[in-house]
Amino acid sequence: MNLEDKIQFYLSEEAYAIVQSVGKLSSNLDKPVYLVGGAVRDILLGRQSVDLDFVTEGSGIKLAETVCQELGGELTTHDRFGTAVWTPPADLFSETVDFITARTEIYPSPASLPQVTPSSIQDDLFRRDFAINAMAVRLDQPHFGQLLDPYKGTLDLDQKKIQILHDQSFDDDPTRMFRAARYAGRLGFELTQATRSALQQSRPNLAHLSADRVRHELEKLLGERFPTPMLELLQQWQVFESLPANLTLTDLQRIALTRLDGCLSIDPGRTAAQNSSIEELRLAIWLLHTQLLDTSAVDVADELNCTADFKRDLERVLNVIQQGLKMDDFRPGTVEKLLRGFTATQLLLLQAHQATPAALKVQIPTYFNTWRLIKTTADGNTLRQIGVRPGPIYQKILDQLLADKLNGEFESDAAESERLTQLIDQLGPQNKKDAS
Ligand code: ATP
Repeated sequence: MNLEDKIQFYLSEEAYAIVQSVGKLSSNLDKPVYLVGGAVRDILLGRQSVDLDFVTEGSGIKLAETVCQELGGELTTHDRFGTAVWTPPADLFSETVDFITARTEIYPSPASLPQVTPSSIQDDLFRRDFAINAMAVRLDQPHFGQLLDPYKGTLDLDQKKIQILHDQSFDDDPTRMFRAARYAGRLGFELTQATRSALQQSRPNLAHLSADRVRHELEKLLGERFPTPMLELLQQWQVFESLPANLTLTDLQRIALTRLDGCLSIDPGRTAAQNSSIEELRLAIWLLHTQLLDTSAVDVADELNCTADFKRDLERVLNVIQQGLKMDDFRPGTVEKLLRGFTATQLLLLQAHQATPAALKVQIPTYFNTWRLIKTTADGNTLRQIGVRPGPIYQKILDQLLADKLNGEFESDAAESERLTQLIDQLGPQNKKDAS
């Protein structure tokens, strides 16, 4: 089968130009080169693809260097694997491009890193996860466009099947279970019976995965447009109970993930989505609903080796919910004091949390867009000028003044000023320098 027309149609103009250049430059080096993996799968499915992965039967690094010399950009090379990542000039293509030396992989033990040896394209396709990702299109002349499909990936695409290439595939790399869930969810495909059985057999190997690898796979999955059906599949396959972290997927967690998506279009959600990645936000809200209101969210985050900042977000949100549950005053001044210093991300998580009191939830957008920006006319300098001795009393006076202002108690600056005098007399007369 020749895919020249389809490649041109389904790749962007920029991506197609790169594919042509790589083919030409590899022909000059007299080495076969192939477009592989997701791009080929997506082209055959009639989907747009931005991911360009090239495999050559020559040196991947040499080819990448030649491309970089010819087209510009920057290169990062990994000698051990014979791979290079090319960052093209921004006006040429906005994604990074992978160059790989065709290789075989041998896994010394389950879930370990593989030993690699340069090899043929057939072997390189055989080390891949599923038949639908194990196809290649040749790009050097005169073979441009020829499809290589040794493991019948096109048949699986027609039958909407996900199939591993050999029985030990999940033993070699249990992260492929997450990948299977992603493709099944994204494409609406099913695992073949043999692939399902192999997955079940291999489940105990999930325990050998490092926290970082598990988190990385979860984040990739949570970054998908509709991750919940993918999580459902992992649950159905009993993947969560085999992991080294105590992950669960309850109704509460499913609903919280949907609620989070709903909160993203209004502030603070919009701002949070600019500051944090969607996968981080989803992971946070998912973990926050592990057990309502106890610290198991932070324990699981620990087991997944999440960053200290991520864990601090969880802790702050849980902490403020606990405080909110004891409150009966939700006037603006009280809410401002409670939420002061919260980031947009923390506020979004608070808003999307099941246990946050409704009276607090409704105030969060107004707090974010208005109250947090309001200041009192007086500040520390004013107090110093009046002669109040510096100390913790400053914060007390200014906090109360701000709360009164937010609660709408002043109709003019003069009223605010009058209240300041009153507060100094009530809270800190002994601190006035002229009082001693
Ligand atoms: P996506 O559309 O999700 O980006 P992709 O197929 O491009 O899908 P990548 O993670 O970019 O996925 O990987 C590129 C290719 O590398 C895959 O198509 C697959 O052939 C191979 N691959 C990636 N990860 C694995 C793995 N864990 N085991 C085997 N092959 C893998």
